[in-house]
Amino acid sequence: MVYIIVDLEATCWEKRENRPNEIIEIGAVAINEQGEWVDEFDEFVKPKIHPVLSDFCINLTSINQGMIEDARGFPEVLQSFQNWIASCSSNENKNESKYVLCSWGHYDRVQFKNDCVLHELDTHWLESHISLKHQYGELKNLRRPIGMKAALKREGIKLEGVHHRGIDDARNIAKIFLTYFEFWTMPE
Ligand code: AMP
Ligand code: MG
Repeated sequence: MVYIIVDLEATCWEKRENRPNEIIEIGAVAINEQGEWVDEFDEFVKPKIHPVLSDFCINLTSINQGMIEDARGFPEVLQSFQNWIASCSSNENKNESKYVLCSWGHYDRVQFKNDCVLHELDTHWLESHISLKHQYGELKNLRRPIGMKAALKREGIKLEGVHHRGIDDARNIAKIFLTYFEFWTMPE
């Protein structure tokens, strides 16, 4: 089993105006059953419907047009991401891949699903998923789940890198994940 701590960034606008949000970065950290930081994945994605980033999105994520201009499209990047997950999780004995996707909230799974539907790709690979945000809220008896930044502060963990960059968010979430490594409830 490998734990894939994943964080997505997507196109966004100050006012939604019914535009679909598309993934522009997949950032992830793989952690093994011993709680070791095995590997990282980070790739930008060129959006299909709105390939020009809004100023709002650039300001929020610090991802600029140049960073996604030469990026591959979602189907290609997803294939690489899935190959990476398989390479981190392949069980030498059974030759099978077992992983759990872990993210801070349900947003990342929903966003992955939306992009898969947009590109007519399979979504079954998203089934094994947990929201660390909701489990953290329960572990800590919080009245409602809190954001990653607030959770880091609560834990006395320094927010490293740039907030709202997929890979940096994934690394910071991975630190919270490792702090409570024994306590997360995994899917059946
Ligand atoms: P995050 O993982 O918190 O960096 O957020 C993931 C994505 O959610 C961002 O890339 C945006 O597309 C969207 N998002 C996050 N925060 C906001 C916000 N305050 N306003 C609009 N969209 C947001
Ligand atoms: Mg993020």
